Amino acid sequence: MLGTLLYNASLPCKETPDPREPMPMKYQLKCLACGATYPEHQYVCRCTKGCSSLLRTEYSHTKLSVVNRYPSPWRYLHWLPIHTIHPRLLQKTSSTHVYHSTKLGSTLGLKNLTVCLNAYPGMATGSFKDIEAEVTFQRILDSTSRGKPLVFASDGNNAISFTYYASLLHYPIVLFATEDARQRRIWSFTRRNPYCHLYPVDGDYSDAIALASQFSTVDGTLNEGGAYNVGRRDAVATIYLDAVRSLDTQPDHYFQALGSGPGAIAVYETSLRLKKDGRYGTRPPKLHGSQNTPFTPMADAWIQGSPTIDPKYQGEAAKRLMDQTYAHVLTNRFPVYTQKGGVHDVFTDTHGEFYRVTRTEARHAQRLFKKLEGISIVPEAGVTIASLLQAIRQETIHKDDAIVVNITGGGRDELRKPTYRITPALPHPRNR
Ligand SMILES: [Zn+2]
Repeated sequence: MLGTLLYNASLPCKETPDPREPMPMKYQLKCLACGATYPEHQYVCRCTKGCSSLLRTEYSHTKLSVVNRYPSPWRYLHWLPIHTIHPRLLQKTSSTHVYHSTKLGSTLGLKNLTVCLNAYPGMATGSFKDIEAEVTFQRILDSTSRGKPLVFASDGNNAISFTYYASLLHYPIVLFATEDARQRRIWSFTRRNPYCHLYPVDGDYSDAIALASQFSTVDGTLNEGGAYNVGRRDAVATIYLDAVRSLDTQPDHYFQALGSGPGAIAVYETSLRLKKDGRYGTRPPKLHGSQNTPFTPMADAWIQGSPTIDPKYQGEAAKRLMDQTYAHVLTNRFPVYTQKGGVHDVFTDTHGEFYRVTRTEARHAQRLFKKLEGISIVPEAGVTIASLLQAIRQETIHKDDAIVVNITGGGRDELRKPTYRITPALPHPRNR
């Protein structure tokens, strides 16, 4: 099969870093547990010494530099694990709309509310996963693994974004997704998707992740890495950097609904870089995470003061809970919570808060946002706004505080383009 999945390495890939700033080594990856380091150009997502912790990017640039001639996220290229920018990515890049909210802000009585809106048309597919996908592809193109089919699992938005950019770059991807996700949540703008090889899985998202992990042990393939991929986390960081630059300092609070946790971890990691820079304050924002009932593994663990996830969320019975959620993309039985550098660590360091959001609350928040800000938002972003409403009631924020909310997806109701289900490379196991 791999013979049909070769990347056309002759596609143009223009060198773009600023020649006035030569960097013998731009970055390295460091294991937070054992301190092992990995050089740039090596597409590694897990410590090869077997540590469960995250790897973190260490950049030689300790000051935030912004290359204004590039669109976001590429303008932060000094803090991205890349060396070049593919011309097609520059042409079709995504952009976050960051603004001070007056309507939602004043309705809620918040004086300093900043919205990071990751929505269509700024995001081609209406999700912030577009930024993660484009930076990940560029990281691969700059690595010694360039050309290897990218293997990953997705329950929805990642599949849509990675399929879109795979098609743009003619780069092969091997996607494992549940049949439910394939039929209900994953789509493409095109009927034919020759670069996306989708395998439906008989199980849940965690089973899809396990199969992707197993498949990527085949020689000549590349595991994308998910939350362990620094390309994804440093890509999300650019959203936070846009917000920090608009405020000219780090905010007091950061809100985002969490599935596996990389978004919150990315913001924390960026706050450490900004602390070294010194110009944007030295204190990380208080992190506010949220999950939707009845599947709230990280929220429960955090609220109960536990460094580990309750096993009831990790066994087979958890799948019934996942099926009852409204924002299904937030369900991951094995989030990056306990691992060193994971959600428990970063919430501990920022005195973070977690919220459990019901379907009714999330839907109400979606309607409220659309009415006031004029654009539809995805269910998981409804969970984020609902958590903001809970925070006001619980007084975990103050009306004068600088608050940033990451609206991770939106504009899909306004998207007037046809979308299509992706034909699987093999039929679902039950239909074979
Ligand atoms: Zn290690």
